[in-house]
Amino acid sequence: MINAKLASQSHPHHQTVIKLSETVAFGGEELVIIGGPCTVESLGQMETVAQKLSAAPVQALRGGVYKPRTSPYAFQGMGEEGLEILAAVRSRYNIPVVTEVMSISQIEAVAAHADMLQIGSRNMQNFDLLKALGEAKKPILLKRGLAATIEEFVMAAEYILSHGNPHVVLCERGIRSFDNYTRNVLDLGAVAALKQITHLPVIVDPSHAVGKRELVAPMARAAVACGADGLIIECHPEPEKSVSDARQALSLEDMVNLVDSLKPVAAAVGRNILEAGVGLKSTPILCAA
Ligand code: PEP
Ligand code: MN
Repeated sequence: MINAKLASQSHPHHQTVIKLSETVAFGGEELVIIGGPCTVESLGQMETVAQKLSAAPVQALRGGVYKPRTSPYAFQGMGEEGLEILAAVRSRYNIPVVTEVMSISQIEAVAAHADMLQIGSRNMQNFDLLKALGEAKKPILLKRGLAATIEEFVMAAEYILSHGNPHVVLCERGIRSFDNYTRNVLDLGAVAALKQITHLPVIVDPSHAVGKRELVAPMARAAVACGADGLIIECHPEPEKSVSDARQALSLEDMVNLVDSLKPVAAAVGRNILEAGVGLKSTPILCAA
C-alpha cells in the first residue's frame, strides 16, 4: 500500500488530463509523442528536427540544454543559448517543447522558455528540487530514477503534487539490472501498475530504456499497447554525429516511420494520434547552423 494521498487513484475511472498547449494534452484519448535530440546542438539542428517532426506528426519536441553527463569532461549542454533555440522553434512551428531542469536555479529560465520541465532520472529523489517544482507554473515530466522502486517513483511525484503543482506526468525510462545488453530494462509492468494505482498520465521513454536504436520501435509499440499515454523518443538529423546518446538516436526518417507504425497499435487500444497540421504550422525558416 503506497501512502500517496494526492497521486493515488481514488476512483478507478478518474484520469488526470494535463494540457501542454491548446491542442496537446496528456491522459486523453490522443497519445502525446515527444521527439527530438538528446541534446540541443544548434539552431539549424533544431529547425531540421522541428520541420520534419511536426509533419510526422509528433506533438512536442525535446532537447536537453542542461545535460546530466556521467563524465564532467563531456559536453554539458548549451545552457541559456539552447533555451533561446528551443523558444525560437517553439514559436515558429507552434509546437510545445520539453527540456530538463537539473537544479532549482534553472527553473525560472527554463519555465520562461519551455512548456514542460523534465526531471531526469538522476534527480528523481532530489527532494529540494521536487519541492521547488511544486511552485513552478509549468507541467512536470518526472522520469523514474535509475533504480527507483514504483513506490519511490510515486512518492517523488507526491512531493511535487503536495507542494502545489498538480501537473505531473510520469515517465518510465528503464531501470538498472544485471544485464547490460540493453542499457536498462524497460519496466512495462510498472506502466500498467502506475496507470492503476495513480490517476496521473504515464509515458514511456524507450530510447534510454534500450539504448540501441534498432530496439526502440518495437518497445515504443509495446508501450502504447500496454496503455502508455505517450512516448518520448530521441532522434537526430545525423544520429551517428549526436553529441550524446548517439547509439540510441533514430534518424528523422525512422522516427516518422515509427509514428506511422504506432497508429494501428493505438487504434487497437482505443487511442489515436493527433494528425499533422492540427494546431501546428510549419513555415520554413532560416537555417543558420
Ligand atoms: C534524457 O532524457 O536525455 C535523459 C538524460 O534521460 P534520463 O534522465 O532518463 O537518463
Ligand atoms: Mn539522452
